[in-house]
Amino acid sequence: MFVNKHSRTFIFKRLPRNYRQFTSSSTEDYDLVVIGGGSGGLACAKAASQLQKKVAVLDFVTPSTQGTTWGLGGTCVNVGCIPKKLMHHASLLGDAIRDSKAYGWNVPDEVQSDWTTLSTAVQNHVKSLNWGHRVQLRDKNVEYINGLGSFKDPHTVRVKESNGTERLLKTRNAVIAVGVRPYVPSQIPGAVEYGATSDDLFWLKKTPGKTLLIGASYIALECGGFLNGLGFDTSIMVRSRPLKQFDQQMAELVAESMESKGTRFLRKCVPVSIEKDSRGRLVVKYEDLTNRQTKEEVFDTVMFATGRHAVTNNLNLEALGIEVDQTTQKVFGGHSDDHERTSVANIYAIGDILHNRPELTPVAIKAGQLLADRLFGGSQVQMDYNMIPTTVFTPLEYGVVGISEEKAVSCHGEENIEVYHAFYTPLEFAVPRRDASHCYIKAICFGDRILGLHLIGPNAGEVIQGFAVALRCGATWSGLSGSVGIHPTTAEEVVKLHITKRSGADPTVTGC
Ligand code: FAD
Ligand code: NDP
Repeated sequence: MFVNKHSRTFIFKRLPRNYRQFTSSSTEDYDLVVIGGGSGGLACAKAASQLQKKVAVLDFVTPSTQGTTWGLGGTCVNVGCIPKKLMHHASLLGDAIRDSKAYGWNVPDEVQSDWTTLSTAVQNHVKSLNWGHRVQLRDKNVEYINGLGSFKDPHTVRVKESNGTERLLKTRNAVIAVGVRPYVPSQIPGAVEYGATSDDLFWLKKTPGKTLLIGASYIALECGGFLNGLGFDTSIMVRSRPLKQFDQQMAELVAESMESKGTRFLRKCVPVSIEKDSRGRLVVKYEDLTNRQTKEEVFDTVMFATGRHAVTNNLNLEALGIEVDQTTQKVFGGHSDDHERTSVANIYAIGDILHNRPELTPVAIKAGQLLADRLFGGSQVQMDYNMIPTTVFTPLEYGVVGISEEKAVSCHGEENIEVYHAFYTPLEFAVPRRDASHCYIKAICFGDRILGLHLIGPNAGEVIQGFAVALRCGATWSGLSGSVGIHPTTAEEVVKLHITKRSGADPTVTGC
């Protein structure tokens, strides 16, 4: 897209369907209306406002199936990354307290966490972030409207405000940033009625107690990991494989490390029904797919972590001709060479709602900021969705950037892929004799090019963030192995990698 700053006429390289040219003489009240005040929407709205544009952002939280609601900031702040990371940290502190005895601290043999204290502290922090977002919007002159948005036409957004009034906002551009919500398989009797989701867990008023998590991806493993660490009896029901979309050797190590710390994995099992018994506990019937047997067990909390679905049917997209994927209901981008432009020229989609893009906060934020720069700052820089790092915040974290070993082999052939790997012991594990058998690193190389770097261990997210920059800049194996480490750290084990899988040599790091 080219922007002629003088006439403020927007000219598209290829005219898309529903194209409409508009100039500064148009009657729109806003330059931009953003529907959805989460990670992507807020970032885009603030960046557009910094470029002196008139911007409104709408945010409305539809209650979860269990009736939970929250404030401004979207999934990450209220029911995602932030409360999850704080509870993950709380669980790690338990390990640290137990380790501290070996380091000379006088602590009792048994320590217990208190759910009410923890969840209240987490919720108070979240509420402070809600407030911070409102203040930032006000300071940056972004109009915040607490209302449910939908389209009347491509240049008119209808808002049902929380106080019941309805408003129409005329706008030149609109961004759909409505995110996704937990999917609960409604065909399972009792699932919707009794099943909690990650939208509820961090706001539970009573302790979770004995908990069953259904699903075995990011959310189930992270929540299962911290609940077990906090002392709750925790089971994870796995339909196929844990972390199916990740490198399978790493995924299995993560699951094994959780099992070794007490999380129970009900492998190859699916839920059949949930009922409440006379004492208010949840009776779960489930099928073991290996022998087709139906089993029954009682839990205090059942949480579905069975994926997340887009709720786009209330936006009136069909009437505008905006294309959505039939299965996920997510919005297609990629029109007119712009990754985030929909099939309607002045409407864009960012974050989790964009079809076939990673559901991660930094992705939504970066896409939102870059979009504002393109729309109003004369930039032509597109979001780069390649080499995006991520971390699964399980008790032993799993950080990754780049592709899995399976993908590398299928793309380039096993004979052309070299995998360097190591089992290592973080120094701090040694004194309390903590089990380090799942701390593992591997670098996947194609010639001198590093295609993927995977690390399981403490602070994997922190370690991988630095290497992710290097890989994005085209890091090579010779560059990595020629680098000098920082001693004594976990990250130095990456630059010390030297044993290939092909050699069959023992990859266990010994000594200093
Ligand atoms: P959201 O943040 O979901 O914001 C969308 C907003 O729009 C919501 O407030 C919604 O209520 C509102 N809305 C919806 N429809 C309308 C409407 N019609 N009108 C007005 N408002 C509307 N990502 C990471 O990078 N790291 C992590 O550690 C991480 N942990 C996670 C843990 C959990 C448990 C979950 C569930 C997610 C986690 N994620 C993590 C993913 C991350 O939260 C999302 O990728 C991110 O929040 C997406 O941002 P978004 O702007 O696309 O949508
Ligand atoms: P996913 O879609 O990744 O996984 C869904 C899980 O539920 C799979 O294990 C799947 O099993 C299982 N499942 C689906 N339907 C059923 C069913 N009917 N019965 C039993 N099991 C079922 O979803 P998540 O909710 O874990 O994560 C969503 C996204 O949120 C992630 O992709 C990630 O981008 C983001 N996120 C990021 C985090 C981070 O950055 N640390 C943390 C948390 C979330 P199967 O494999 O057999 O299909």
